Amino acid sequence: MGDYDKREKLKEFYLKIRDCRECELSRSRTKFVFGSGSAYAPVMFVGEAPGKNEDLQGLPFVGQAGKLLDELLDSIGFDRSEVFIANVLKCRPPGNRDPRIEEINTCKSYLLEQIKIIDPKIICTLGKISTQLLLNTDKGINTLRGKVFKVDSRIIMPINHPAAVLYTPSRMEILKQDFQKIKRLIDSDGEVPVCEEDILNLESETTGDKQNKGEQLGLF
Ligand code: URA
Repeated sequence: MGDYDKREKLKEFYLKIRDCRECELSRSRTKFVFGSGSAYAPVMFVGEAPGKNEDLQGLPFVGQAGKLLDELLDSIGFDRSEVFIANVLKCRPPGNRDPRIEEINTCKSYLLEQIKIIDPKIICTLGKISTQLLLNTDKGINTLRGKVFKVDSRIIMPINHPAAVLYTPSRMEILKQDFQKIKRLIDSDGEVPVCEEDILNLESETTGDKQNKGEQLGLF
């Protein structure tokens, strides 16, 4: 798919889903938060769900966590318009409660279709929810963060969620280092350096696969 086609396809998809009423969250949302950035981004960042500011503006990561994300992107020479930023859920859970499993299951096809259209070389999952969904694992973020997974021809790298780091500033240095690692991955065009110690194979690393694995990975 050419770049022009990608942008058109993404726009078409946005117009198709923006009035979604598939779950309860559509009743309480102010705006549907599709995601933002470039349709031909080499790297995609996937958070959890819109918060209050995102719900009001219809854009992902525009609050404090977004400010930190912008700074981290800047530290590796990127503007947010050059990457694509999305969430697992497109609508805000009331009071910023955790997403429910049925909401994730209802909404995940939207994220998977975005990934399919944009086809980024690298996906950075921000925090537990997007990491567990895209790696199809129950493992925690502390075990997975900073590691590099190759799923088919795509790289998935989990990192701590910027909002969590705002609450635990001692993790800031780790997050900054993980961004440097993301830059190295981008610079190598998604080609994983053979010396990388923590390359894990998803198939051998993930135990207790969920039933939906085939369906999920088939979309990549
Ligand atoms: N946290 C998220 O996970 N996503 C946003 O868009 C904002 C905060």
